[in-house]
Amino acid sequence: MMPTMRPVVIAANWKMNTTPSDAAELARTIAGRTRVAGVTRVICPPFVCLASVRDALVADDPQVAVGAQDVHHELAGAYTGDTSAPMLDGLATWVIIGHSERRRDHGETDERIGRKLGRAVDGGLRPILCVGEQLADRDAGRAFEVVERQLGGALDGHDAARVAAARLVIAYEPVWAIGTGRNALGSDAAAMAEAIRATLGRLGWERAGEVPILYGGSVTAANIGEFLAEPSIDGALVGGASLKPDEMAGIVGRAGITAAARLSAIS
Ligand code: PEP
Repeated sequence: MMPTMRPVVIAANWKMNTTPSDAAELARTIAGRTRVAGVTRVICPPFVCLASVRDALVADDPQVAVGAQDVHHELAGAYTGDTSAPMLDGLATWVIIGHSERRRDHGETDERIGRKLGRAVDGGLRPILCVGEQLADRDAGRAFEVVERQLGGALDGHDAARVAAARLVIAYEPVWAIGTGRNALGSDAAAMAEAIRATLGRLGWERAGEVPILYGGSVTAANIGEFLAEPSIDGALVGGASLKPDEMAGIVGRAGITAAARLSAIS
């Protein structure tokens, strides 16, 4: 593969952890320990912590972006407990869409995830679209087919150029690797990243090679190197380890090595 200048992205998914009173301090600590040139850092706290994390980072390290963990597929209405794209205005600039925990716990379908993607793009949010197969799919040799279907379901009907302009990021997260301590092989994740770009090409994306693809699934400071050694992988969506400043320092530090190598490969 040719050297690429796709950005190196490390996104923290705090899931349903932290409170408004402790999230700001954690964000500040992580920001302070991850100031590494060339790495795009994103912290996605729970909705109720977005304001405190935003305020902490604006004051301390405005280069760390704030992301939401979900967005509703409608703009407003009778959707108790949900959050729409306009509500995120000023609070978040990124959003995770289609995380497997939302597919599992909230019955999110590819069609609904596609509508959320549209709302994110319309609302000026940078989407991280999550895809990934179940263990049974991988064991049955259906991993590529499942991910291709998820991508098609979410992206079909959208103007590829418009979604590309929103700087879509895709996170490949095999479901069996999330929160289990069991991670994919770097080579398997890389093969999937290449398949994802091929699928984007079939869906009409002219510049599929420019879409950053992250790996997610039990990423730690100890194993991030295996994924970032793969030229087709551009970073990680990190769950459990993203709540630990030492882990984040190690993960982002390793990402900085990849960012520097990519820069020197093109200069
Ligand atoms: C995630 O939440 O997207 C994730 C990959 O979690 P973990 O790193 O804990 O497996």
